[in-house]
Amino acid sequence: MTEETKIPPKHPRAESLRIREKLIKHFKSGVVAQAGLIAHGRGEAFDYLLGEKTTENARRAFKAVAATMLLAKKPVISVNGNVAALAAEDINKLADVFNAKVEVNLFYRSREREIAIKKVLDEAGVKEVLGIDEKMSAQVSELHSERRRVDKRGILVADVVFVPLEDGDRTEALRKMGKTVIAIDLNPLSRTAQLASITIVDNIIRVIPDLIKEGRKLKTEKLKKLQKIVSDFDNRKNLSNAIKLINKRLLELSEKGVYITQVLQKRRDIR
Ligand code: ATP
Repeated sequence: MTEETKIPPKHPRAESLRIREKLIKHFKSGVVAQAGLIAHGRGEAFDYLLGEKTTENARRAFKAVAATMLLAKKPVISVNGNVAALAAEDINKLADVFNAKVEVNLFYRSREREIAIKKVLDEAGVKEVLGIDEKMSAQVSELHSERRRVDKRGILVADVVFVPLEDGDRTEALRKMGKTVIAIDLNPLSRTAQLASITIVDNIIRVIPDLIKEGRKLKTEKLKKLQKIVSDFDNRKNLSNAIKLINKRLLELSEKGVYITQVLQKRRDIR
């Protein structure tokens, strides 16, 4: 019996536990780095604060992302261990909708991890996986050590880089290279969230399926409409709204004690 089957289906946090099991499974197979597990925990904490649902604010951001990806000449989706573990099949669909390349790009790079991630992406149906052929590798001068590597056919020449779950240094380096950087990050305060051109403050698991739908919907729209969606979007305002939402939610909960009361109502044995 796997760990996954041991999760009681009625457990109030069953879905969250299933996702954790998925990450642990992929940690054991070498796809996810140790630090990836910690990063997930940080994300979970912010998801709690956001109410574990996609907000209207996030919807506005992913609409701007869909338009940006459709307008891009050379869009690339950058994949790390957590992204491969949580969303490999969706990444394949996303690449298809936006005609984007898929590149393995790792903070904790090792040959074994690259190969393990490629395998997961291959199995998910991704036709071409960039970022692992050393002959095609180029260096980003803004970064140090192994984190400098990018693919000559991918991120190096991309105009738009979609980095679901990225670290602040690389987001900054990509911006300095003149790329439009799109991030998904549950923490509106992280450097990645703050430095990206567009930040979707949401859980990668919830938002990628919606982004795929939005991409399919906007695909038939005229260029002008897509350009207007992009120019109307303001990432400063988006991030500020996300912080305000957390603030408002915490204020409401702290005033009414709603959440605590609900939990106690379910647990009548607790007085
Ligand atoms: P930065 O370097 O950008 O300041 P950080 O140190 O928090 O931020 P990392 O630890 O590299 O960056 O990445 C973790 C980030 O990914 C966190 O900000 C976390 O909120 C976010 N995150 C983790 N899991 C998810 C998820 N499932 N969906 C969306 N965001 C997530």
